[in-house]
Amino acid sequence: ALRKLVAGNWKMNGTRAALAELGAIADAAAGAPSLDVAICPPFTLIDAAIAQAPSLPIGAQDCHHAEKGAHTGCISATMIADLGATYVIVGHSERRADQSETDADVQTKAWAVLAAGLTAILCVGETEAERDAGKAGMVVSGQMQGSVPPAGTADNLVIAYEPVWAIGTGRTPSVRDVAEMHGLIRAKLDELLGEEGPRVRILYGGSVKPDNAAELMAVPNVDGALVGGASLTAALFVPIIEAT
Ligand code: 13P
Repeated sequence: ALRKLVAGNWKMNGTRAALAELGAIADAAAGAPSLDVAICPPFTLIDAAIAQAPSLPIGAQDCHHAEKGAHTGCISATMIADLGATYVIVGHSERRADQSETDADVQTKAWAVLAAGLTAILCVGETEAERDAGKAGMVVSGQMQGSVPPAGTADNLVIAYEPVWAIGTGRTPSVRDVAEMHGLIRAKLDELLGEEGPRVRILYGGSVKPDNAAELMAVPNVDGALVGGASLTAALFVPIIEAT
C-alpha cells in the first residue's frame, strides 16, 4: 500500500482565530508518522499557518497558471511556493462549477504547480446526474485524460476523487462504488503516466467524517482523504487522522 495522505480543505472558511486549531492537528500528525497530513487554508492564512505549525505541511486551494503578470487578484504557484507551502489543490469541483474551469485550465494550473516545485492535488468527480445516467466512469476518465499533467509523478501529483453529490451532503458512495472508481482511476494513471502510475496516490473526498473514515480508507486504491467540513476543527479532523 502507498503511504496515505490526509489533507484538509478549508475552502472559504477561517479567519486568524482558526489558526488555533492547527496545534492539535500538528500534534496528531506527529503522532502518526506513517502517514502524511496537510491543511489547505485560504490564501490569507497560509503564511500565518506555516508560522504557527512549522511541522505541518500547508497547501493552497488554487493558483493561476502563469508565474506572474497582469492578472489582478490572482495568486501564482511561485508565490505559494515562496511562502513555504507544499501542496496546491487544482480542479476542485467548486472551481470547475463556480469559475467555469475546464480540464485544460486545470492541466495548465497543475503544470504550474509542478514547475514551482510543489505537489498538485488534482480533483475529479462526477455529478449526481452523471452518475444516475451511468456516465460516472466516463466523466472521471475524461477529466483525467484532459487534466492530468504528463510530467506527473508520485512526488508531485496526487489525485482526489470527489463525487460532487457527496461533497457537503453527508452522503458517500458505497465501498464497492469507491473501489470501482479508484480502480478505474488507477488504470487511467497507468495509461497516462506509465511506471509512475501505480505510485501516485488517489484520495477519496466527499463527506469524510470520523465515523466513516476507517471504512473508506480501507478500500483498495484509496490512499488517503481530502476532507472539507470535518477538517475545520481539530475535534473532527484528529479522529480522521487517527482512523486512517
Ligand atoms: P466535505 O468533506 O465537506 O464533504 O468536502 C469535501 C471536499 O470538497 C474537500 O475538497
